[in-house]
Amino acid sequence: MKIIVHRGTHQIGGCVTEIQSNSGTRIIIDIGENLPSSNVDKNCDFKLDGLTQKPAKFDAVFITHYHGDHIGLYNKILPEIPIYVGKVSKEIYKILQTRLSKSHIISEDDLNLIDNFKTYCIPYKKTIKDIVITPIAVDHSAFDAHMFLIECDGKRVLHTGDFRTHGQRGSKVFEAIEKYVGKVDCLICEGTTLSRNTEYFMTEHQLQQEAKKLFDEHKQVFVMCSSTNIDRIAALHKAALASNRLFVCDNYQKELLLYIDSISRSPLYKFKDRVLSYGKNIYDLMQEKGFVMLVRANTFSKKIMKKFPESKFIYSQWEGYLKKDFPEYEYLQKMVPEDYIYLHTSGHADFNSLKQVAQIVDPNILVPIHCEDPSNFEKLDLKNCKIKLAVDGEEINI
Ligand SMILES: [Zn+2]
Ligand SMILES: [Zn+2]
Repeated sequence: MKIIVHRGTHQIGGCVTEIQSNSGTRIIIDIGENLPSSNVDKNCDFKLDGLTQKPAKFDAVFITHYHGDHIGLYNKILPEIPIYVGKVSKEIYKILQTRLSKSHIISEDDLNLIDNFKTYCIPYKKTIKDIVITPIAVDHSAFDAHMFLIECDGKRVLHTGDFRTHGQRGSKVFEAIEKYVGKVDCLICEGTTLSRNTEYFMTEHQLQQEAKKLFDEHKQVFVMCSSTNIDRIAALHKAALASNRLFVCDNYQKELLLYIDSISRSPLYKFKDRVLSYGKNIYDLMQEKGFVMLVRANTFSKKIMKKFPESKFIYSQWEGYLKKDFPEYEYLQKMVPEDYIYLHTSGHADFNSLKQVAQIVDPNILVPIHCEDPSNFEKLDLKNCKIKLAVDGEEINI
C-alpha cells in the first residue's frame, strides 16, 4: 500500500491524501481549500493528474467532514469520480451552499454538483475495489465528522480527519477507536494544536456554563460563531434557555437547526419551537425578555445590532481571524465591537488526546498532516513508532 499526502504535510487545512493499493486502486481522502492564513495562498490552484485533470485515474474521493478546508475543492474533481460524504454532512453542506449561491458566492452549477455526492454512514463499510473504508464518528466543531479506517493489501491505516475529545461527544472518541479500529500499521494524524501552543482547552460543557453566567448578567447578547458549529450552537441554546432568554437567529440558521432536530434523538438538539427567526414582530418581546441572538458578518446582522445599543457581543470562534493579516479582518472589524467578550474552545485535539489516540492504535508509522510544524509530533514521545516527516507529494510505502 502507498500513501501520498499531495498537500497538507506542513499546513493546517487544505489536506489531500491519496491511498493506493498494490493493484492500483486509488482513493483520495479530503479535497479542501487552503484556509485563509498568512503562510498559504487561499486561491492557489490545486491540480492533480487524474483527479482534476483528464483522464480520470482515481476510483473515489472520501470526505471526512463538511469544513471548507476538507471539502471546498469538490467542484475541481472530474465528474466521473464519485465523491462520498457523510449522509448528514451532505444535507448540512447543501443548506450552507444554497445560502452562498443565493448571495452569488458560489455558482448554481457548483451547488447542483452536491446532489451527485454519494453518502456513507456509520458503522457501514464502503468497498472500492480492493480498498475497504470504515467511517468512525468523531467529535469536532463540525457535525457528522469522521475518521476513516482504510484497509487493503493486509495493511490498516487510520486517517483522523479533524477531531477533538473535549466536545459534547468527546468521551465516545477513544471508545470508538478501541472498538472499531485497534492496532494499525499507519496513523495519518492531524496536529493542528501542536503548533498553536495551547495547553488547556475548556470543554464545550464548561463553555455552556460560562455562557449561562454571561446571559444571566447581560440581558441582550449577540453571539458570533460558525453557523455549522452545531455543538457550539447547542451549548449556547441550552445556556440561553437556562437563563430564560429568547434564542434568535436568521431564517437560514433556523433551517439548519430544524434539520438537525429532525434527524437527531438527542435532547441536546431539540431546537424546534424554541428557536425564533428574527423579524420586526419579535422586537418588543426581545426587549422585554432579553435574548441571545446568533449573528454573522453581514448587513442584516449589523442592522439588528444597531437597534440594541445596550447589548453585549460574544465572539465565539477562532480569535486569529481578528488579526490584521487575515482577510476576514476587514469585514469582521466592522461587526465586532472593541469590548467584545471572547468565549471559545478549539475544535481540535489537544496534546494528551493526540497521544492517547496514538497509543490506542499503536502505529508503526505516524504521518503528520494538518499541522504547520510536523516535527512537534516527536514531543508525543511514542514508543516503537516512526514519525514520518514527509513533504507534499512524497510516496510513503507501508
Ligand atoms: Zn481542518
Ligand atoms: Zn474541521
